[in-house]
Amino acid sequence: MKNASVLLSNLIEEAKSIVFFGGAGVSTGSGIPDFRSATGLYNRKQHTNYSPEIMLSYQFMIDHPEEFYTYKRENLYYPNAKPNLAHLALARLESLHPDVTVITQNIDGLHQLAGSRNVLEIHGNLQRFYCMKCHRDYPAALVWEGEGVPHCPVCDGMIRPDVVLYGENLDQRVMLRAESAIRSADLMIVGGTSLVVYPAAGLLHYFRGKSLVLINRDPTPYDHVATYVFHEDLGNLLDEAVPQKKL
Ligand code: ZN
Repeated sequence: MKNASVLLSNLIEEAKSIVFFGGAGVSTGSGIPDFRSATGLYNRKQHTNYSPEIMLSYQFMIDHPEEFYTYKRENLYYPNAKPNLAHLALARLESLHPDVTVITQNIDGLHQLAGSRNVLEIHGNLQRFYCMKCHRDYPAALVWEGEGVPHCPVCDGMIRPDVVLYGENLDQRVMLRAESAIRSADLMIVGGTSLVVYPAAGLLHYFRGKSLVLINRDPTPYDHVATYVFHEDLGNLLDEAVPQKKL
């Protein structure tokens, strides 16, 4: 661990432009389950006959809005989740370094809660909702603390979460910004993602910089293309590697 954090700390110090790209493993330390791990959401016992992929699809939201919202409230709502060491270290990094971008696959908004500003959420954010008809924005509390299917008080359209559901395309504007940030970075740190799910792996191909660092508990299919691979605890490693204040 000591060697890893000293090495990463040096890479951070030398870098002119840093991109962090993170997955579910960034938030598991905050008590939000990893979709695909053994204890994750996909393996939880459900009271329904539908798979989570179906229940988190656009078509299911349209055809079965009641169940869609019940499922979301029961499985995806973590009002007490707080940023962990990984989120806090990345927010600190952004405050110390002129060019840091966080690209996340998570929809929990914990990076912003930790203080990061330059965050690209490629799957959206479950704290944001909008009316499908008139596109007005609505606060998350209105949906989470309400019951049944939320409707717009202005036009009666259904209110939906601002996340990318199965069967929907990624937001191309966000993807282009992510690609551009990766292309211009000289240090890319990838953490808490197994890199097996599209588009995670694809984004790595845009990196042209000097050092690609993978931090993950388990090996990934991309370990061989990385400059450095650390099978360490993400939060502890980032916390040790990011300086406490400007040097
Ligand atoms: Zn509306």
